[in-house]
Amino acid sequence: MEHVKGLLKDTPLKATPQRLAILNEIYTAGHIDLEGIYNNLSSSFPSMSLATVYKNIHTLKKYGVIKELTISGAKSKYEIAYQKPHHHLICKMCGEVIDIEIDTSFLKKQLKDLENFEISNCDIYCYGICSKCRNKSDS
Ligand SMILES: [Zn+2]
Ligand SMILES: [Zn+2]
Repeated sequence: MEHVKGLLKDTPLKATPQRLAILNEIYTAGHIDLEGIYNNLSSSFPSMSLATVYKNIHTLKKYGVIKELTISGAKSKYEIAYQKPHHHLICKMCGEVIDIEIDTSFLKKQLKDLENFEISNCDIYCYGICSKCRNKSDS
């Protein structure tokens, strides 16, 4: 759990076993929703409720340790926030969330030209069908 303990070092948050386990689930999964975390941990922490997981998630989000992805038509997923800025591809068939690093400077330039709007940061979500699901439907 040392790898996730370090994520809390710049926060006043205590590294409780539950909190570290939640972070480890997010770290391992890449992107995971609340129920997913709860289901994966319920055998190791039988007394931990969904509300407790939610509270921890909320606190971790508040201190910028994790990031919430708001995905339309699906539950929010969470990821570790220390990663490089990236955007997301979401598969409408299997729900897979894929990280992509794309250059958004064209968008910044266009919006500046069209609207005189200065982008500070942006989150792009693209919805479609992933390569695995495409291969399945082809065969
Ligand atoms: Zn898919
Ligand atoms: Zn991501």
